[in-house]
Amino acid sequence: MNTNIPTHAAPRTTADWQAADAAHFLHPFTDFQALARKGSRIITRAHDVYLWDSEGHQLFDAMSGLWCVNVGYGQEALVDAATQQMRQLPFYNSFFQTTTPPAVELAELLAQISPPGFQHVFFANSGSEGNDTVVRMVRRYWDLQGQPERQVIIGRWNGYHGSTMAGASLGGMKYMHAQGGLPIPGIDHIDQPYWIEHGRGMDREAFGLKAARWLEDKILEIGADKVAAFIGEPVQGAGGVIVPPASYWPEIQRICDRYGILLVSDEVITGFGRTGNWFGCQTMGTRPDLITFAKGVTSGYVPLGGVLVGERVAKALIEQGGEFEHGYTYSGHPVACAVALANIRLIRQLGLVEHVREDVGPYLAQQFEALRAHPLIGDTQTCGLMGAMLLCKDKAGPDGAPVAFDASLEVGMLCRGHCFANGLVMRAVGDRMIIAPPLVITRAQIDELMGLIRRCLDLTLADLR
Ligand code: PLP
Repeated sequence: MNTNIPTHAAPRTTADWQAADAAHFLHPFTDFQALARKGSRIITRAHDVYLWDSEGHQLFDAMSGLWCVNVGYGQEALVDAATQQMRQLPFYNSFFQTTTPPAVELAELLAQISPPGFQHVFFANSGSEGNDTVVRMVRRYWDLQGQPERQVIIGRWNGYHGSTMAGASLGGMKYMHAQGGLPIPGIDHIDQPYWIEHGRGMDREAFGLKAARWLEDKILEIGADKVAAFIGEPVQGAGGVIVPPASYWPEIQRICDRYGILLVSDEVITGFGRTGNWFGCQTMGTRPDLITFAKGVTSGYVPLGGVLVGERVAKALIEQGGEFEHGYTYSGHPVACAVALANIRLIRQLGLVEHVREDVGPYLAQQFEALRAHPLIGDTQTCGLMGAMLLCKDKAGPDGAPVAFDASLEVGMLCRGHCFANGLVMRAVGDRMIIAPPLVITRAQIDELMGLIRRCLDLTLADLR
């Protein structure tokens, strides 16, 4: 018998938690040895837009957990929905011609808030699983069209679509591909519409058109009769909140239409109000065939993801498809669906989509614009409540674009360190500092956030001088 198992009689100290964590918990996207040396930050509670750690420090959560806590922390309506559903029916599956009321009601509600033409949903548990479903569905669709050779799905370098074999393959994170022999066959990539990396010296909108036409070049290179779909995030999130020029998405739509290929909008981050519309494709003006969702559908209170299925694919699956040999034990989990229902109703009741579009989104944009005067900031971008600022050595080089710091200085990580030490959770992607705060944020809280950001930028600048 293991006599070292703690009884939890005495409250654990931070050091206790850190030791047990390092001994047993393999964290995602983590260098295990580095973590063991430093010790984890233990987050113990949260309310509204704030977190508290095991030492009692308060942190402003400018990342909504991991881009997901759209309604903020501590919303009792979601807690009640989970509790009641757990009492009533904690689990039943949706295989074998059965279903549960919360799953049906959620499917119905999603059809109401989705863009026109979306009447069906397939449930999964996460964004990665949703994108695995996308691969299965897209290939099944083309089989049913009598074109099984249409297999290739095109994604983008530096796009992020999750961490399963299919999700990581659709994504364009080369460091992920390097572990595990990825991408899987039938997936190709084009460059991202990131002006600072690929469009320096060009007019931004002309660059947007050029970047979209890389898709056309790729389709012609592969052969249009072999290309099944294109997948992209309306605004790349994990890649560094890269907001494409306005010309980009309409041109992508034109190209998909021209070659008849399916358009998949990965809305795991941009869904449920983040960009000031229910879905990011509405902000960007595209008409996708499939929409991947997760995160904001439950505000992260419990796991849920899936795919909204547009008419073109749904009709083929339903009318011609017979049995679709795919599904997860927890597809349509009643507790997750009950929480999602409460979450979406709360987003509606609080008017959060309009709040982002008409109030805090434009206010954040103004504040980020003003940040450009800071000596460290070379560029800023926002879309709704997603924002990025680029830390740079010079605001403008000979081509008019910002000049990067030497990567070995790890300026982004330096800044992130100051953020944590000063009560702010902000993420660094290279030297792009990014935020995506809860949608319930107020103007006064944006002012507070900007004060914290400026303080951390000043501290970073002082280190570099
Ligand atoms: N797609 C996008 C756009 C994401 O940002 C993420 C996660 O951040 C995923 C998919 C994967 O979602 P999950 O981590 O829930 O599997």
